[in-house]
Amino acid sequence: MTRWVYNFGNGTADGAADMRNLLGGKGANLAEMSNLGLPVPPGFTITTEVCTWYYDHDKSYPDDLKAQVEEALAKVGAVTGRKFGDLKNPLLVSVRSGARVSMPGMMDTVLNLGLNDETVKAIGEEAGDMRFAYDSYRRFIQMYSDVVLGVDHHEFEEILEEHKSRNDLGLDTEITAEDWVGIIDKFKGLVENDLGKPFPQDPHEQLWGAIGAVFGSWMTHRAQTYRRLHDIPSDWGTAVNVQAMVFGNMGETSATGVAFTRNPSTGEKALYGEFLVNAQGEDVVAGIRTPQDITEKARIEAGSTRPSLENLMPEAFAEFQSICDRLEAHYRDMQDLEFTIEKGKLWMLQTRSGKRTAKAALKIAVDMAAEGLLSEEEAVTRVEPGALDQLLHPTIDPKAKRDIIASGLPASPGAASGEIVFTSDEAEQAKGDGRKVILVRVETSPEDIHGMHASEGILTSRGGMTSHAAVVARGMGKPCVAGAGMVRIDYRNGTISAGGRTLNKGDVITIDGASGQILVGEVDMLQPALSGDFGTLMGWADGVRRMKVRTNAETPADAKVARDFGAEGIGLCRTEHMFFEGERIIAVREMILSETEEGRRAALAKLLPMQRQDFAEIFEIMKGLPVTIRLLDPPLHEFLPKSDEEVAEVAGSMGVSAEKLQERAHSLEEFNPMLGHRGCRLLVSYPEIAEMQARAIFEAAIQAGKATGAPVVPEIMVPLVGLKGELDMVRASIEAMAAAVQAETGESLTYQIGTMVELPRAALQAAEIAKSAEFFSFGTNDLTQTTFGISRDDAASFLGTYQTKGLLEQDPFVSLDQTGVGELVKIGAERGRSTRPDMKLGICGEHGGDPASIGFCETVGLDYVSCSPFRVPIARLAAAQAALKART
Ligand code: ADP
Ligand code: MG
Ligand code: MG
Repeated sequence: MTRWVYNFGNGTADGAADMRNLLGGKGANLAEMSNLGLPVPPGFTITTEVCTWYYDHDKSYPDDLKAQVEEALAKVGAVTGRKFGDLKNPLLVSVRSGARVSMPGMMDTVLNLGLNDETVKAIGEEAGDMRFAYDSYRRFIQMYSDVVLGVDHHEFEEILEEHKSRNDLGLDTEITAEDWVGIIDKFKGLVENDLGKPFPQDPHEQLWGAIGAVFGSWMTHRAQTYRRLHDIPSDWGTAVNVQAMVFGNMGETSATGVAFTRNPSTGEKALYGEFLVNAQGEDVVAGIRTPQDITEKARIEAGSTRPSLENLMPEAFAEFQSICDRLEAHYRDMQDLEFTIEKGKLWMLQTRSGKRTAKAALKIAVDMAAEGLLSEEEAVTRVEPGALDQLLHPTIDPKAKRDIIASGLPASPGAASGEIVFTSDEAEQAKGDGRKVILVRVETSPEDIHGMHASEGILTSRGGMTSHAAVVARGMGKPCVAGAGMVRIDYRNGTISAGGRTLNKGDVITIDGASGQILVGEVDMLQPALSGDFGTLMGWADGVRRMKVRTNAETPADAKVARDFGAEGIGLCRTEHMFFEGERIIAVREMILSETEEGRRAALAKLLPMQRQDFAEIFEIMKGLPVTIRLLDPPLHEFLPKSDEEVAEVAGSMGVSAEKLQERAHSLEEFNPMLGHRGCRLLVSYPEIAEMQARAIFEAAIQAGKATGAPVVPEIMVPLVGLKGELDMVRASIEAMAAAVQAETGESLTYQIGTMVELPRAALQAAEIAKSAEFFSFGTNDLTQTTFGISRDDAASFLGTYQTKGLLEQDPFVSLDQTGVGELVKIGAERGRSTRPDMKLGICGEHGGDPASIGFCETVGLDYVSCSPFRVPIARLAAAQAALKART
């Protein structure tokens, strides 16, 4: 016989805290509190397995469930000295849902179940308070009709409001017993009118109706959406908790409240919570009346004149405080509690780990380690790496007034204010004049890099979370709101309009990259302050971490930020990003557009000193730390001149006609640039590019080595290799250049040559390619594109649909597709190491900063992850957690 029902209460329980899969979080913790001997109203939990059974069997119940529920109800009756449905001494219960993890708002609780026209009288007589009994009954009818029968709760509220205004009453508590009787009649009339049958009077019918509603709530649209957003499988199911009622609405010595054992927004070690006298259930959070503070300290801080629980009911408060301490020590985590006081007696109704801000999470973890509640390693596991993002960027002051004109996607966190500008050149100019700007574009392209750098934040009206603007902004650590479709951008007239309002170039706006909001004017900000707790926890994390954390950086500014955040080297320096700056782009265009090798060499000669200087600066900032420099990679069309003006500029510089240049530019256009003439293919066609870049790297290495006294060992990375032969060919150019530079300078050079694994063929042929590569870096952005055959730039139009239709759980460009792309990473790593056991392996690509993907990298045994500068702390913590997980 399967056991479907587990009792709790009266100092014992059939279940325990570790049975949350079966009993749900709420049920398991009610059982645990009972086992601890805490005052918990008795009750029972119908397991999540019944929910699964229910959906596997056409929404029916196992045969033996009914008998088990009856037996459990009888036990609850025995403990309370009552009987369900009895006319003299009726047992009333609450029916509460509870999945393994809390799913706020999935299903509303039904309280006071078991009340009907008869039992209400018995309850009233027993309490000597008819007002209380009828207040409970009307609450029950409201909740049950809304949750179980599907009658809109607004209709009940209207009846209530109407009654109050007719009788000039302010609060529900002023309504008398007689009033409630009249209102209840109207409530019942409403139900009968809406449903064509009367409100159910039979307590057993009520009970099974509520149980069915809890199971039914598991498959509602909002529950399914919530599960999808939080990666909760639907076969987990929900449990149902049926529990004897206790009453916070039994007059002035009764109350109900919620509390956290520590402050959930600051982490301060102080009981924090609110309560209401003569109230029930969710009244506190529903905002019907203004709640009071639990402790005197909080009351004084809030400047409230209404008494605290500590003052009002000192005995119940003292007991509550000691229970809080006990539960926190028992669970070794900050708890979120619900309680009720019935005629001075305290009852515990719920405990669970409390949600908290990143700041609070850090403080609580560090404090609990200091208090001896946690080991340092456990403390490291208690902070969610992604949450650190909140701490690393300025945010809008929660107290500030928000004048929102539109919203888009929260593409890159942080908030920023500035004047509206529409072009990258304007942005750069304004920055030069000392003004702050927000770059507003329909979409951005690689040519906007300098404008993005110069602005405080970026707003686009088109593109998704992986659009150019979003990816680059995240890399730069700049706030970005992308794909704000409701914003109309008019470049010609220099305006943006949304929601019937129009703003002009030069007007100040604020964007909030955490919420996606676009606000008018400047808004107060809170600056990120990295607390001492942050440093302490990161220190502990570094102590357990196996993988190194490097950064993707190409500018000295980025390299500096990353180093300050604890980066241990550069995993990806994309040289082409340096090509867009200032005058360089003209030389780059000359190189691409010239038809002869001499022409290209002449253009490359102009670029050489600039590249050398860039590299030298980066080597100096990273003093002694490894730096991987990738040779020229992107499709050439990204560099081609577009406007007539740009064409004329390059033509002039090259001494050819604009027409001829235009022709050459056309001839370079490709159908599919992402799969075209790029990466090592360019270097194979034009070895002089690799030669120039290698020379710049080697000369810079010598220069920086002398300047810092720390010898530089550059790692030169050849992109987009699919054939070992490609790598060999480029390698030969690099080695020849190394020999030349050594001969010229008389200095000896140490360096490594490796490749970026970003084509499936490279992963499969890794054993062969490793013969010529001293290191691999998995370029998972392109590897995802080439494995899925999906272009990242075009994915926004359909990837969202794939997620809503359940084909893909996550955007594979955000979190590594572990079974497909990850399999190739694994194969590449294994085969590479089979040839070269000491081969250095890393990952660059956006995934290097994604905690789940970092966890995967640990299991594959990579040596390092590399991510954008602002994600370095997140990666350090995620790598530490991955290492701890691998140990268990
Ligand atoms: P949620 O998970 O949304 O908090 P709960 O099932 O915990 O939903 O219940 C909602 C409210 O009803 C809480 O304030 C809880 O304290 C109260 N409540 C639940 N069961 C009882 C009970 N048996 N007696 C008194 N109050 C209860
Ligand atoms: Mg609640
Ligand atoms: Mg609750």
